[in-house]
Amino acid sequence: MDLDRSATDGAEFEPSAGRFVDFNAAYADRFEHGGLPVEPSARVAVVACMDSRMPIFQILGMQYGEAHVIRNAGGVITDDVIRSLCLSQRYLGTREIILLHHTDCGLQRVSEDQLKSELQAEIGIKPWWSVESFSDPYVDTRQSIERLRLTPFVPHKDHIRGFVYDVDTGRLDEVTSG
Ligand SMILES: [Zn+2]
Repeated sequence: MDLDRSATDGAEFEPSAGRFVDFNAAYADRFEHGGLPVEPSARVAVVACMDSRMPIFQILGMQYGEAHVIRNAGGVITDDVIRSLCLSQRYLGTREIILLHHTDCGLQRVSEDQLKSELQAEIGIKPWWSVESFSDPYVDTRQSIERLRLTPFVPHKDHIRGFVYDVDTGRLDEVTSG
């Protein structure tokens, strides 16, 4: 099984930044959300996969200024996510954590060993970071919850909930512990 290392390899690439910047000019013209406090008003931090099919604010009906959203490949609880959550809770007042994993994740198509040996063969360096690939998003979400429970740097653990988002239906399924 080979994850297309780049699905567009060989095809001509057209950057999109110009279109997005154009959009932003119009967005700023009608912007009405200035002056909000830096502390998220719902006092919640969401940790989510970077998947392009998950517009977190829309999925959860979150408004400007309500939540921190921390994202990486897989929505994995890495040291850097813990860094962000530590700051979020200590300095910016959040008290609740929502984990958002999802179906059809790119990380389900990658094997830790395969990627590491490919990189070592191609560029001569084996990455020092963990790929964090997984096969079952429910198991992976539980793993993330367990990591949060273990870290001393994220003190507020009373309100942690994990979900798997179905990218084909838009529906959340809560991950129960155990
Ligand atoms: Zn994903």
